[in-house]
Order: sequence, then C-alpha cells, then structure tokens
Amino acid sequence: MQTIEGLGVSGGIAIGRAVVIENRARDIFRLPLPPEEVEREVARFHEAVEQARSEVAKTRDRASEDLGEHLGAIFDAHLLVLCDTGFLEEVSARIRQEEVNAEWAVYRAGEEYAERFAAMENEYIRERQADLRDVLRHLQRRLQGISHHELADVEGPVVIVADDLAPSEVIQLGRQRVVGFAIETGGRTSHTAIIARSLKLPAVSGLGEVTELVTDQDPVVIDGERGVVILHPTPELLDSYRRRMEELRTRELTFLETRDLPARTLDGVELHLMANIDLPEELADVRSFGARGIGLYRSEFLYIEKSPDVPSEEEHVELYRRLVEAASPEPVIIRTYDLGGRKLAQELLALDEENPVLGLRGIRLTLARPQVFKTQVRALYRAAAHGDLRVLLPMISGVDEVRAFRALAEAVIEELEGEGLEFRRDPPLGVMIEVPSAALIADLLAREVDFLSVGTNDLIQYSLAVDRNNEHVSYLYQPGHPAILRMLRTVIEAAREADVELSLCGEMAADPRYAALLVGLGLRRFSVTPQAVPALKTLLRELSVPWLEQLAGRCLEASTGPEVEELLSSAFETMLAAPTGSA
Ligand code: PEP
Ligand code: MG
Repeated sequence: MQTIEGLGVSGGIAIGRAVVIENRARDIFRLPLPPEEVEREVARFHEAVEQARSEVAKTRDRASEDLGEHLGAIFDAHLLVLCDTGFLEEVSARIRQEEVNAEWAVYRAGEEYAERFAAMENEYIRERQADLRDVLRHLQRRLQGISHHELADVEGPVVIVADDLAPSEVIQLGRQRVVGFAIETGGRTSHTAIIARSLKLPAVSGLGEVTELVTDQDPVVIDGERGVVILHPTPELLDSYRRRMEELRTRELTFLETRDLPARTLDGVELHLMANIDLPEELADVRSFGARGIGLYRSEFLYIEKSPDVPSEEEHVELYRRLVEAASPEPVIIRTYDLGGRKLAQELLALDEENPVLGLRGIRLTLARPQVFKTQVRALYRAAAHGDLRVLLPMISGVDEVRAFRALAEAVIEELEGEGLEFRRDPPLGVMIEVPSAALIADLLAREVDFLSVGTNDLIQYSLAVDRNNEHVSYLYQPGHPAILRMLRTVIEAAREADVELSLCGEMAADPRYAALLVGLGLRRFSVTPQAVPALKTLLRELSVPWLEQLAGRCLEASTGPEVEELLSSAFETMLAAPTGSA
C-alpha cells in the first residue's frame, strides 16, 4: 500500500481500478541517425501511423454508436490526415534526407502543414488545424510509446490517473464509467477541478509523478476530502473507506434538511445563494440542493463540448431558454464566452500566444472576433425574451470594454429588429470583477452596468501572480491574503455607494468559513457550485451578522493569508466537524 499526498480539489471518495493517461507530449529532440538505420526508422513511422489509424477508427466507431454519426464524423477528419499520402511522404522524405528520428520529422512536417492551414482564406480549412494538431499529438504518443487507453478495456468503476487533463477531457471521461481522478497537475480553482466538482466526481491533483507509480488496473482510492490517493489499499483500509463514504452520504442528507429553509442569518438578514453551473446536466442540481437561480452559467463549455463544431444560434437559444425556464422565477446570469487563456481558443481560433492567460481571453476575444461571437450575443438577446436572463461579461479590465460590448449589442439589436425576431432589448448587463484593475475601478464600472459579480478565482490569480493551474505555487493561492480582503472591501463599498447589485461567484465562497467571512465583510449574494449550497446555508443560519462583522474585522487586521485561515478554522472548529477543504 502507498499513500500519495496532493490537493483535494473535488470532495468525496472514490474506489476503482486505474486507467493511466499520459497527455503531455514529451520533449521532441532532433536525433541524427546513422545511415543504416534510416529505413528502419521509416518503417517505425509507418507502423505508428497504422496503429494510430486503427485507434482513431475504433474511437470513431464508438463515438458514432454512443453519440451519433454526426459526432463520429469528427474522427473521419483525423483519419483523413493519417491517410494523406502527401503528408506521409513528406515525413518519410525528411527522415531519409535529413537522417533524423521520426518524432522530429513528424514535428517539422506537422508545423509546416499547420502554417499552411493557418494561412488559408477558407475558414473551414483554417479550423481543421485543430484536427491536424490532435492527430499529430496522437502520432507522437504512438512514436514515443506514451500510453493512451480505451476505457472499454477495464472492468468496473474506473479511476483516471493522468499527468494532465483538459476540462473537455474531464467532461468526456466523467460521463463514462469514471468515478474519480488523480492528476499530477492543477490547483483547486483550475477549470479541470471545477468540472470534476460539477460532475460530483472526487479528484486529487498536484500528485507529482503519480503516473510513474501506477499501472493500468491497479486498485486505487481517491480521497478528495483529505487530498490523498492510496495505491493498492489493504482490505481493512477499503472497509474503512466504504464506511467513510456512508458517513459522507449521511452528512449530505443532514445538510439537505435545510434545502427548503430560507437562507437567512440567525438575526434575520436575508442572503441569496445561487448556483454556478457549467454543464446542462447540472440543471437539476440547482433545485435539489436548494439554490435560488443561476448566478453563473459558464457558457463557454457549450462551445468547448461541441468543438470542433461551432454551436449554432438556435442551439444557443434553445439551451438558454431551457436554463431560464428551469430557474424561473429566479434569475439566470449567463456569462458570455470566457474562452482563451487555457480554454480552447488556441485550437479554435488559430491563436498562438506566448502568455495566453494574459492574452486574448474572455471579453477581449469576443470583441476581437465579433463575427464569430455575434452568434452568442444574438442568442442571449433572443432568449432574454423568455424570462429573467442577465448578461455577464468576463475578464473586464476597464470601462472601454463595457462600452464596446454595448456597441456590439446595439448592432445585434438592430439586426434582430430588422429580421422581426422576438428579443429583449435591455436584459440587465453586468461585469465580472476578476482583474485587479476592475476591482480598483469598481466605482467607475458600477456607473456603466446593472450589476457586478466578483470572480475570486481569477482575482486571486491575477492579484497574487499565482497561476491557478499550477500546483507548485498553490500554497500561495490564498483567499484570505490581506490584498484580497482589502480589494473585496473596496468593491463592496463601491457597489454599496452606487447602489448596484453585487454578488460573488468564485470558489472562495464555496468554503463555508470563507462565506461567513464574506458575509461579515458585507456581501449578501453568492453563487457557488450547487452541492456547496446546503453546507453554506446550514452554517450561516446559525450565525448573526454582528458576530460575523466582528470576525471579518479581526481577519482584516491579520497580516497574512495563513493567519486568516487560522482565525477562521478556530472560529468554526466545532461548528464544522469536517470542513469541505480550503478554498
Ligand atoms: C472566477 O474567476 O472566479 C470565475 C468565477 O470564473 P472562472 O472560474 O470561470 O474563471
Ligand atoms: Mg474567471
């Protein structure tokens, strides 16, 4: 038995058999070959192509069966690349002429092809770049001997042990027989972790080189509560984990007893607890966990899920309408695409940014490619005719961006009017406060919009210069850092003075201790993952605002994030026998 420590990024416990996925391509080196080995290298290349072809064909057949011909067809595009004689000859010629290894020849030929694709006038062909890159990754994996698996080969519940996983992969895997994730990389607020929580699947990240220690089919326990992974557990340990799973279920049921009770402090101050959702299947969770409305719908996941297809305007309208009708009479806040950064834009929009998290992300991308993103804006204004839909803009760093969006919306309104379509002209418009500049000018932004929503996941990342995906610096990712508390206080005061509605939709509020601190600072509206709502409500109903204000006062006097963490932990030690983990 071996216990490996990491970060618990999605709570709960999972027991299953491992499937190891290695995604990160290894470095590709140029290795000169002696002339007598060249032909063997060409043969090795063709063998890898054969294997990749048969894998892709298998995936295509399964995708067609499970998800329909239409999605299976995506993989036909991948097969086309693997059968393209021009490409195959180009690689073979490079191996022979340059006398180099196949990995290098594939890499160089692939780069050349990708550049040619990127320069094409035709948008459809430009977008095929994503297929090309996918296939090249696949081929390199074959050449480098990196494992890549079929879940169908494993029996029973599956635990994914991976070096790195994209949010789209978690969505895909989470809908199969996967019960938990052990990942080498990533912090608690990475989108990969957020999606694991959306799917209610336990996950531990920051696990060093766990893929080196695990072999397929190994029995594994994922303890998302304590942030550990146990390899080859003894029967006794498995028994104790099964008991713990039962206890967690009971605890959840106890929390759920508050579902229909009002979210109100002990002294009668009304709170508003809404739900963050990323995937349509979470819609049922909104009510079942007692949330009131949707405070953040991360709309980009529709786009990410459909990739490489682009969802149509009608698909958008239909989904937004479903959200609005399901949440009625409570509001639904739909955030415009927050693509870019680490979320897919490079593949889809042929962007090659050195520092994408500080690049064309969120509103910047929407404004930079109005022709691509107008579809969503049209859909938002059309769906707003069916209920209380509010529009939220991500990654706002200044007032200009709000004005530019309004100009885009005006153009959309004119178009919709001309086409005689049903729409609402003035759905409430809000901005995310998640860039430090936005927090500092919250008063100026408040004059331009109808509501503000603080995104602490990014606000912490950008304020403390701590990559939210990087497990090596996750110790510095501190929601209680004095800089964060002071910034929050500035935003709360600005919203109060401007009399503009303010909510907070970052993960910070999903930890009941920090939610209590935020109420003490003056916040009344929160949006969190639906499962977090019952625990928040249970705790906040037992506390009164003056007590919380006093606690917040003490936290504001602290000099470091860990001091705040300590203050909160000791304040709630007895009330939260098992806190849900640090934010
Ligand atoms: C945030 O940054 O806090 C937020 C809610 O947005 P996301 O996690 O999608 O970046
Ligand atoms: Mg954000």
